[in-house]
Amino acid sequence: MNNQNSLSLATLRSCIMIAVAVIVLCSMAVSCASTGERFDEGETSTPDSPTFVDKTPKLIDIYTVSDSDTVYICTGKASKRFHASDTCEGIMQCTKKILSMTRADAEKRHRTFCHKCYRDSLE
Ligand SMILES: [Zn+2]
Repeated sequence: MNNQNSLSLATLRSCIMIAVAVIVLCSMAVSCASTGERFDEGETSTPDSPTFVDKTPKLIDIYTVSDSDTVYICTGKASKRFHASDTCEGIMQCTKKILSMTRADAEKRHRTFCHKCYRDSLE
């Protein structure tokens, strides 16, 4: 009885070992196959995605700006824009004071979107 028990245990263990080995081999094969597919997909989608992503990240879509968002204006008489950042090259030319305020306040001062800070996604 004891011998039979240990024998069947040993068989069970070797069965489990084989099953584990098969599962590992299968998952390796599957991951290899899927990375191959992903590589192919990546190759086909590479031409448009990086160029498309590179163009947009700095510019904020004007339709995502709310009235309470902070913007920056130059108090000089010639300046007619408001900016998303006080380091925009448009506002760096300001010889007067740079003020931060909400977009609503900037529009009350008849300021419009700086084209170096913002983009119109519908244009
Ligand atoms: Zn700007």
